Amino acid sequence: MIKGIHDRNVDAHPYRCLTHHSNQGRKVMPKGLLIDIAGVLYEGDQAVPGAVDTLEKIRRERIPFLLVTNTTRKTRHQLLDRLRALDFYLDEGRILSAVDATADYLRNNKLHPLLIVHPAIRGLFADLIDPIPNAVVLGDAGDNFDYDNLNRAFRLIMDGAPLIAMGDNRYFSDTDGRLSLDIGPFKAALERATGTQATVIGKPSATFFHSACKRLALPPEDVLMIGDDAQTDIAAAQAAGLQACLVKTGKYRPGDERHCPQAELAETFSDAVRGLVE
Ligand SMILES: [Mg+2]
Repeated sequence: MIKGIHDRNVDAHPYRCLTHHSNQGRKVMPKGLLIDIAGVLYEGDQAVPGAVDTLEKIRRERIPFLLVTNTTRKTRHQLLDRLRALDFYLDEGRILSAVDATADYLRNNKLHPLLIVHPAIRGLFADLIDPIPNAVVLGDAGDNFDYDNLNRAFRLIMDGAPLIAMGDNRYFSDTDGRLSLDIGPFKAALERATGTQATVIGKPSATFFHSACKRLALPPEDVLMIGDDAQTDIAAAQAAGLQACLVKTGKYRPGDERHCPQAELAETFSDAVRGLVE
């Protein structure tokens, strides 16, 4: 059993939060959707109840949507396999990942990274590796966040290399249902030690949200971001001019809405899009 799904009172008022917040706060009905993956579509090893059917309805009704993820322990292919194994029908073009956006950024800026990332995604950067790195790239490295690696990064940044972070999430909902450390705290440690500021590529970067909206061919104000991270998904999307809805699945913990008081709240992904799809 996944902690978090079953102890929620999902039947109590499925419309309550949307009605309460959205009709007051929603100026225009969204024409497109940006959907976070982990914690919104699945939790641990299970799809969030109703999410498979809801995404299928969105697809069938041809509502423009893109899955936007800061997950950096998986490549886009691995994410897609994971989603398909849970019965989400999708093609690869529907996923915008912070990992791919980071690789593009490095290529465009001719940077050769020292990688502090999870082994699963290293291969995506193979063509960018140089014996003399000129940038530090942080992903959610798991066990690779060790002293030696962080100290190598620290020294390189002190020598002038830019620090590039794939995201700035403080924590994520782990496979055991508990919260685990993400990139943000390690990024903050390196910023503190070096007195520099990282460039963040994925969420909460406004550039990331805007390039996602551009792919939907919609202005930000017509797009609704749905996520389980009150800051990185929701407050950040609002700051970038999007509409946003916080779901109470995944890493959500009671009280998180204080970080995004103007946002909509919904019990689940399906509740978040009620009114848009039948
Ligand atoms: Mg999430």
